[in-house]
Amino acid sequence: MSNPVAYDIVVLGGGSGGYACALRAAELGKSVALIERDKIGGTCLHRGCIPTKALLHSAEVADETRESEAYGVKARFEGIDLPGVHAFKDKIITRAWKGVQGLLKSAGVTVIEGEGRMVGPRQIQVNGEIVEGANVVLATGSAPKSLPGLEIDGSRVITSEHVLTMDRLPASVIVLGGGVIGVELASVYRSFGAEVTIVEALPHLLPTEEESSSKLLERAFRRRGIKFELGVFFEGVKTTDTGVVVTLANGKTFEADQLLVAVGRGSVSAGLGFEEQGVTVERGSVVVDDRCRTSVPGVYAIGDLIPTLQLAHAGFAEGILVAEHIAGLDPAPIDYAGVPRITYSDPEVASVGLTSAQARERGLEIVEQVYDLAGNPKSQILGTAGAVKVIAQKDGPVVGVHMVGRRIGELVTEGQLIYNWEALPSEVAQLIHAHPTQSEAVGEAMLALAGKPLHVHN
Ligand SMILES: Cc1cc2nc3c(=O)[nH]c(=O)nc-3n(C[C@H](O)[C@H](O)[C@H](O)COP(=O)(O)OP(=O)(O)OC[C@H]3O[C@@H](n4cnc5c(N)ncnc54)[C@H](O)[C@@H]3O)c2cc1C
Repeated sequence: MSNPVAYDIVVLGGGSGGYACALRAAELGKSVALIERDKIGGTCLHRGCIPTKALLHSAEVADETRESEAYGVKARFEGIDLPGVHAFKDKIITRAWKGVQGLLKSAGVTVIEGEGRMVGPRQIQVNGEIVEGANVVLATGSAPKSLPGLEIDGSRVITSEHVLTMDRLPASVIVLGGGVIGVELASVYRSFGAEVTIVEALPHLLPTEEESSSKLLERAFRRRGIKFELGVFFEGVKTTDTGVVVTLANGKTFEADQLLVAVGRGSVSAGLGFEEQGVTVERGSVVVDDRCRTSVPGVYAIGDLIPTLQLAHAGFAEGILVAEHIAGLDPAPIDYAGVPRITYSDPEVASVGLTSAQARERGLEIVEQVYDLAGNPKSQILGTAGAVKVIAQKDGPVVGVHMVGRRIGELVTEGQLIYNWEALPSEVAQLIHAHPTQSEAVGEAMLALAGKPLHVHN
């Protein structure tokens, strides 16, 4: 083996977390090697955020075409052209993929294609060579999980990855898991014409969201004909010549063409030499402190590999934080409650800050205001039901914003500014919201919390 090639930073994994870290470090004048075994952009670009949002947009177009008469437009929905759906999605991915490769190239990051393995506290072996870094950043991401005894065959029993390349539309699907990925893909399947049943062990869809948001989503899904079984465990699945038979712990059985397993994602850490080099790994995830430092000095971990929010923008932020920390800039730790969360189903569910339950757990005395989108003309034009709920500390700042509605996700940016700047409802109430926009629902909730409601029926 030849002498190690040395860099200031070696990043293992070129997904959202890894490439963001590489770009920021290069910007700060560091020499960076980025090792990737598949495609730069990782899960988010190739198997996650971007392809699913492209599918959801095709789904929205399908629904709008079906509903066109309600808007006085004559259009006929003839069906879903799957190759066309994939071509649209792939065009977006390819463009963004080229873009990120170009960014890395012009930043001077050395991209090494190959499977890396940690062989020393600061050494990664790839393609038979040792790449050494004064600092190493682990960013190997995550992969779909399954349940014990539940075998993914890629045909009848599938994960989100198979949905993204499906070559036929199932007539019926059971979605195991009512978290973000399960809910988004259930939404796509329904818009594409499938019968959909979601099975969720916890009492609500999107169980980590504010309960009232989950309930609004459930109501909207019921109206769309999406069925769900809540608070019940999956027991088993049998595949048949025509599909699957799923049994639940309450004795109910369901038949469908496919079972989509969306029970979460596990970190990619096994067999990569992390523990052998002294990196503490718990239940598959690398343990880090608030600067993403692992148990080994000079070794950091970011993104889905660590037990923080499994979101691309959380990964970006962690990657940037690590690059800045290594460069001696002393960045502030991330307040994960201040990271916005969006589920891009129809309707969308978005939130930032604390749920009311979390606020009470922290001992906060809170007040709440719900503004129903029925009172928001732009939402009525878009044909959506839903609500904006604001939670504030009594006589204090806003601590949570929770929203449900078609296209409402874009509004989370305002919620995020309000939460992270610890704004008082009375301060936000001073700001004039453009009319007619969905953002007025945020303004109305703040006006009401500030004691001067405008379009609110008592
Ligand atoms: C269906 C789906 C939809 C999603 N939608 C959203 C969304 O809308 N918004 C959002 O914010 N998040 C979304 N996510 C989550 C988001 O994709 C992840 O949080 C994000 O990709 C994590 O980034 P990462 O860099 O930690 O890991 P990854 O993106 O998984 O990247 C890790 C990279 O490391 C590489 N790698 C692994 N091991 C090695 C090795 N030994 N050697 C070399 N390379 C290696 C992998 O090939 C991969 O490219 C979605 C995820 C899924 C699955």
